[in-house]
Amino acid sequence: MSMSAARGVPGKRERLVVIGGDAAGMSAASQARRLKGPDELEIVAFERGHFTSFSACGIPYWVGGDVPERDQLIARTAEEHRARDIDLRMRTEVVEIDVAGGRVRARDVDSGAESWTSYDKLVIATGARPIRPDMPGVDAPGVHGVQTLDDGQALLDTLAHTRGRRAVVVGAGYIGVEMAEALINRGYEVTVVNRGSEPMSTLDPDMGRLVHEAMEGLGITMVDDAEVTKILTGGDGRVRAVATEDAEYPADVVVLGIGVHPETALARAAGLPLGEHGGLLTDLAMRVRGHENIWAGGDCVEVLDLVSGSERHVPLGTHANKHGQIIGTNAAGGYATFPGVVGTAVSKVCDLEIARTGLREKDARRAGLQYVTATIESTSRAGYYPGAETMTVKLLAERRTGRLLGAQIVGREGAGKRVDVAAVALTAGMTVEQMTSLDLGYAPPFSPVWDPVLVAARKATKAVMSATS
Ligand SMILES: Cc1cc2nc3c(=O)[nH]c(=O)nc-3n(C[C@H](O)[C@H](O)[C@H](O)COP(=O)(O)OP(=O)(O)OC[C@H]3O[C@@H](n4cnc5c(N)ncnc54)[C@H](O)[C@@H]3O)c2cc1C
Repeated sequence: MSMSAARGVPGKRERLVVIGGDAAGMSAASQARRLKGPDELEIVAFERGHFTSFSACGIPYWVGGDVPERDQLIARTAEEHRARDIDLRMRTEVVEIDVAGGRVRARDVDSGAESWTSYDKLVIATGARPIRPDMPGVDAPGVHGVQTLDDGQALLDTLAHTRGRRAVVVGAGYIGVEMAEALINRGYEVTVVNRGSEPMSTLDPDMGRLVHEAMEGLGITMVDDAEVTKILTGGDGRVRAVATEDAEYPADVVVLGIGVHPETALARAAGLPLGEHGGLLTDLAMRVRGHENIWAGGDCVEVLDLVSGSERHVPLGTHANKHGQIIGTNAAGGYATFPGVVGTAVSKVCDLEIARTGLREKDARRAGLQYVTATIESTSRAGYYPGAETMTVKLLAERRTGRLLGAQIVGREGAGKRVDVAAVALTAGMTVEQMTSLDLGYAPPFSPVWDPVLVAARKATKAVMSATS
């Protein structure tokens, strides 16, 4: 059965169909609804999972016990969306997009019943799929991903029912390190097994080394340069260890944090344009290239890296929410654009804050940019003020022009969000010399008289000068 939409008939109510009911999809639906009432625009949203508008970003803090209740991570329930005249169909998966026919085929996940729904405008917000390596034991009880609230609940159930206290985290990106903290907070002995030479491959290895050392200082066993080959199970079928090529790490629970791929199988089958990282390609208005009435945003798209000028897949909630708002504005007949990203991210493991923006050394080389680096150690407060903690700041600047290319910061309280100064400088195209005279706030409880970012900018300026003289 096909439900019809206005298909561009003047004066008729249009139908906006949204695939994916989380950050990007429901931001788009909500923004479109803010701009157009139900008599002008019908909004139908499909979500295959049990939850809508939830914060995956909060899962590590819920599992770790900082956030006591699951429902605190739900920004808006299905009922709240429906009360705003959004026809949100939960547990309903879109299994086909018929671009030529302007319709989608959806399947009720529980009953298997299928139906077609036509659209005038379509939003694809299908997010990302966690990488789950095809290896023996990966589906054994006790092995968990942490992508959804169901995943978080399943992990908490395992933690509640497992007597042993040994946890192995596979992957040392930001989700891996945040989950290491969560498991430490739950009283586990944690081992992090990582394929890279250092944790946090979004940093340069010299800064990743600081994370490695700090995590070891927290009592976490760090195993770098190690490829997990299989998950070993005991006689009861449950996980008992994680095996790499040359060692075994006993485990009562395993958490996978290996990264994600854009969830674009539907889009690919529909013939929509994908980039080299597998994400949908859009224009600056988040419209799928070559398709007037289809938009896409969030973890399923590639975005323009404003520093290198190339397309990247940067799956972060901060972008998904912005994309959704832009898409909703445009789908409701307004005008908004998303210029691109500089690649800012911040995370923490216990009291260690880790932040980055812009290009790493290898990104700069890949982009054909020549650069200098400057790394400094400073403190979060005036040295004499109680609680001052050390932090390391590394800046990359373009050789000759001195344009800031990237910043990485590792330190304790007050380190992480300092990266935002560098993110603004990058967005504004500032040189490191211009950064040295930024009018940043100062009082002893907040920074030394020369803020660590300014000290790093001064050192980077000297490096630029000596590289050009
Ligand atoms: C543990 C964890 C911690 C994180 N921490 C941070 C952080 O600190 N900061 C940050 O910026 N980002 C963080 N993120 C990333 C952030 O959660 C994502 O970038 C964000 O959720 C992306 O939103 P989205 O709407 O694009 O995709 P998703 O949140 O993945 O939502 C897509 C939705 O589409 C649904 N769907 C997919 N296909 C279909 C279909 N065919 N039919 C119907 N429904 C479908 C899915 O079920 C899903 O609910 C974290 C992620 C995780 C997992």
